[in-house]
Amino acid sequence: MTTILNGKELAKELRNEIKLEVAALLEQGHRPPHLAAILVGTDGASMTYVNSKERDCEFVGFKSTVLRLDESETEEGLIDKIEAINNDPDIDGLIVQLPLPSHINSDRITDTISPDIDVDGFHTISVGKLAKGMDTYVSATPFGIIKLLESYKVDTSGKHCVVIGRSNIVGRPMSILMSANSYPGNSTVTICHSRTSNLKEICKSADIIIAALGKPEFVSADMVKEGATVIDVGITRVPADNEKGYRLAGDVDFDAVKDKAEFITPVPGGVGPMTRYGLLYNTLKSYKIKAGIK
Ligand code: NAP
Repeated sequence: MTTILNGKELAKELRNEIKLEVAALLEQGHRPPHLAAILVGTDGASMTYVNSKERDCEFVGFKSTVLRLDESETEEGLIDKIEAINNDPDIDGLIVQLPLPSHINSDRITDTISPDIDVDGFHTISVGKLAKGMDTYVSATPFGIIKLLESYKVDTSGKHCVVIGRSNIVGRPMSILMSANSYPGNSTVTICHSRTSNLKEICKSADIIIAALGKPEFVSADMVKEGATVIDVGITRVPADNEKGYRLAGDVDFDAVKDKAEFITPVPGGVGPMTRYGLLYNTLKSYKIKAGIK
């Protein structure tokens, strides 16, 4: 029997837990946790993501500040603004929405954010700590996937996990977490990318597939072993005959794969909501560290 990993429901439960925790903190006279976001330009998807982060903050009782900057913002100008936020004792988390315009060096920007408030976990220090198995801010999508696997008690130890995609925000950190000496983790991990030559055979040998490549419905039923766990990270807008003119497609052909899988995430309603929860979790974590709250 197939179990659908319902990220939407789980994230709702977990968000409510954060909401209660924040209410209790306010009751005790503490200030609310505060997440700051910087958005450069007017990319449609980025604007949607930042708006939803603002709504999530409002729901759980966090303060949120969004700095919306013009597309023409300079790298130096952006760095000055990040440094001002780094030095603001009232702010617990800072994210700079990616992608940035091409005249700005993203690596330089993510490394300007203080690791203490790097709730996206993209700073070189955060990634280094993750690789060494040290406590750090784990970027929201891999964090959300780990939480989903843990909540549904998916067995990962000794399993062959195939991660498709090697980006710094999803594939790479995911491969590190799945190979870590912890639960969920302890998997034998293969990381695949656009140069992998025998992807289908590799996927067929996987107990767990984590697809993060951004190619709609790429993972077909003949790539999946009976009883596998399939995590679909992909979100691509594909044209559709509806009011919006598009629908969201994952990287997995859900309808074809679902009967073969033991566990599978839907799109939407799987990894996406867990990612949004991950950011709230990291912001609360930073707040507690700052305030010395256990
Ligand atoms: P990305 O930076 O574009 O990376 C894509 C990765 O997939 C690259 O490593 C690329 O290989 C690999 N790839 C591309 N085509 C491939 C193919 N035919 N076979 C095997 N590997 C292939 O993308 P990303 O930022 O990691 O995001 C991946 C997807 O996840 C996107 O759809 C994105 O929208 C979605 N996403 C969802 C969430 C969420 O919350 N659900 C969060 C983040 C991202 P090379 O390195 O060789 O180019």
